[in-house]
Amino acid sequence: MTVTLLGFPWDASSSHARGPALAPPIIRALLYSDASSPYSLSGVDFRDVVASQDFADLPENADACRAAISARIAEAVQSQAKPVSLGGDHSVTFPILRAMKAAHGPVNILHIDAHPDLYEEFEGDPFSHACPFARAIEDGCVANLVQIGIRSAGPDQRDFGKKHGVTMLGADALDKIPFKKLGGPLYVSIDLDGIDPAFAPGVSHPEPGGLSTRDVLTILSKLSAAPVGADIVELNPEKDINLATAHVAAQLVKELAALMA
Ligand code: MN
Ligand code: MN
Repeated sequence: MTVTLLGFPWDASSSHARGPALAPPIIRALLYSDASSPYSLSGVDFRDVVASQDFADLPENADACRAAISARIAEAVQSQAKPVSLGGDHSVTFPILRAMKAAHGPVNILHIDAHPDLYEEFEGDPFSHACPFARAIEDGCVANLVQIGIRSAGPDQRDFGKKHGVTMLGADALDKIPFKKLGGPLYVSIDLDGIDPAFAPGVSHPEPGGLSTRDVLTILSKLSAAPVGADIVELNPEKDINLATAHVAAQLVKELAALMA
């Protein structure tokens, strides 16, 4: 199975700072840069796995943008490729999951994030980057949702999570991850702000007390199912320091591609 790398340069659904739309070409440039090796930790050369790429622009209208994202995921799946999507803000994940549902039925989701992203709406926008998993649950895209790194959930999102059977874990509860809920079809969504800002400072909403990069790599190494798709979102290059966060994103692309191969 090959992987297709998709860039979704969209950040108009962000609630605070713009910037993530700049991320996809920066992550791609690092992936193919001489600064780091092409190998995953398990020794897979991502260049042998990533068979195609699509970094085309998106429509400026939000509805049209989401439709375009779903269409590009559907196209990837139809050509027998597993999509690794580079955001963009986290709002891109709902249209991705709609297309994954069409191909695979409801998926199990490993979601790394400081935030549950389960708001009914945020600042009047039900498709905000604070809402994608609420929309995905309502749309029937989700079998199990396991959130790790959460450290910003108020009562509203906790209640929504409880009502819908979401597993919501902080960065201090890595020994409680229910890996048995993360069988196939498995989707992985990594919001880089789930990682501690010491390791990943280039995000719009830094929340100290998060996962280390090593924690995330260890979690990925414990997955028993090969993911059918994944996204890495919320890199804000305008906040990054010496490309530190972009390097984390590039490493995660290599690891996810190796898992999918
Ligand atoms: Mn977040
Ligand atoms: Mn998020």
